[in-house]
Amino acid sequence: MPTTMPPSPTGNRQKADPATGTRPFAGLAARLRAADLRPTRQRLALAKLLFSGPDRHVTAESLCDEAQGLGIKVSPATIYNSLNQFSDSGLLRRVVVDGIRTYFDTNISDHHHFFHETTLTLTDIPGDGVRVDGLPSAPDGARIARVDVIVRLIEDVHS
Ligand SMILES: [Zn+2]
Repeated sequence: MPTTMPPSPTGNRQKADPATGTRPFAGLAARLRAADLRPTRQRLALAKLLFSGPDRHVTAESLCDEAQGLGIKVSPATIYNSLNQFSDSGLLRRVVVDGIRTYFDTNISDHHHFFHETTLTLTDIPGDGVRVDGLPSAPDGARIARVDVIVRLIEDVHS
């Protein structure tokens, strides 16, 4: 029994939201298919949380809490696997802050981050806020794929 419908350029059943002009679910399913991921119900639910609003940074734990709070039945293992599949397919970008925490960024363009050590949150450094000077040349047989800058912040203590 087929569980997916072939993509159709005109046959999307979901109508555009007149307020935003978007078709959230149809768009998300197409996005998953374009990334070679079958748009299962669980993946769609997670994609909706991730990609429906402005860009965001989540961890597996934070997304679990969010899904749970909304009554979405997805196991932590599925959330973890989906985040990794989305990243491997280029839908998300992994930002590894330290050995313990991996953040997943819906903004996959090249950009740098502030890491707020007090709240353990990640925010984008706006614009071209970082210029990296004096990069070493890559060793023979390799090239620099990307430079990630994480500026770690400690909030001021007000007494
Ligand atoms: Zn970011």
